[in-house]
Amino acid sequence: MAGAKRRKSGTDRPTSVVTGGVGFLGSYLVELLLERDHQVVAIDNLVTGNVDNVAHLAGHRNLRFIHQDVTEFLFLDGPVDYVWHFASPASPIDYLDLPIQTLKVGSLGTHKALGLAKHKRARFLLASTSEIYGDPLVHPQSEDYWGNVNPIGPRGCYDEAKRFAEAMTMAYHREHGIDTRIVRIFNTYGPRMRLNDGRVVPAFISQSLHHRPLTVFGDGSQTRSFCYCSDLIEGIYRLMMSDTDQPVNLGNPHEMTVLELAQEIIRLTGSRSKIVFKPLPLDDPKQRRPDITRAKKLLNWQPKVSLVTGLDKTIAYFRKKILG
Ligand code: UDP
Repeated sequence: MAGAKRRKSGTDRPTSVVTGGVGFLGSYLVELLLERDHQVVAIDNLVTGNVDNVAHLAGHRNLRFIHQDVTEFLFLDGPVDYVWHFASPASPIDYLDLPIQTLKVGSLGTHKALGLAKHKRARFLLASTSEIYGDPLVHPQSEDYWGNVNPIGPRGCYDEAKRFAEAMTMAYHREHGIDTRIVRIFNTYGPRMRLNDGRVVPAFISQSLHHRPLTVFGDGSQTRSFCYCSDLIEGIYRLMMSDTDQPVNLGNPHEMTVLELAQEIIRLTGSRSKIVFKPLPLDDPKQRRPDITRAKKLLNWQPKVSLVTGLDKTIAYFRKKILG
């Protein structure tokens, strides 16, 4: 694989830096990299990340944790082979609550992470998002669609920060010859999401387990396509080790309405909850489904975990959190 040729640490073990390494997805990535025998440096300011996500890895001889905001200058001793830039609030309620930090981590944080990659001659991967397509007018979304984003709406801070981050990544690629990768992550779920994260899967599971009404926004006809975390992380690893500098969508193309998701979660939890309808937040995308043709072709990747299997695992995690 490409990684074997790029090794600089003088050992067989490549060094990976993961920003946001304590967050929901960052922590799974750290775990996978340790399993694949990387030396890992996880950087996180713990604003939305939670140390519980990596508590089971504490003391691992190949893992080092740095408590730092990645918008500050990143200084690291020694060689680095890969920089995985995952730091950012990612839930709509988080980035509504932290709009300036969201803009700063997507812009200044991406600049610092790219600077680190440039200094170390490391390969860089940006965790981008389906949000760069905004409320899409093309369906399903393929990588050559440029999107329909409201820059001044409530989601603008996240969408535009990630669009800036993609532009910055390509500028470093073109200007400085940095080896770069861009993954556009579609809705992903699984254990380690926060109970109060606000995203639809933890919200509905938590409401179901408490037998409280499930809050469906709008009439619930908006669609999403949900990918289980382990599928996503495997795709991201393959992308980093691939040869493509083009953006790649990763997500599960199985599309459903939010109302269908609510009904499925009530069924799987055996809950007595009813459904209540609440106002649809401004600029909430009406439809979203990844076209994963590129990922299939270039990475030989497609999701394996079915919605029922993934939800069962996630429900078991939340049940333990809530009910002990
Ligand atoms: N949603 C909902 N009830 C909730 C939370 C979210 O109906 O309690 C809807 C939300 O309006 C959106 C979809 O579920 O249409 C997915 O929302 P999420 O916050 O998970 O992420 P998004 O895909 O909007 O970034």
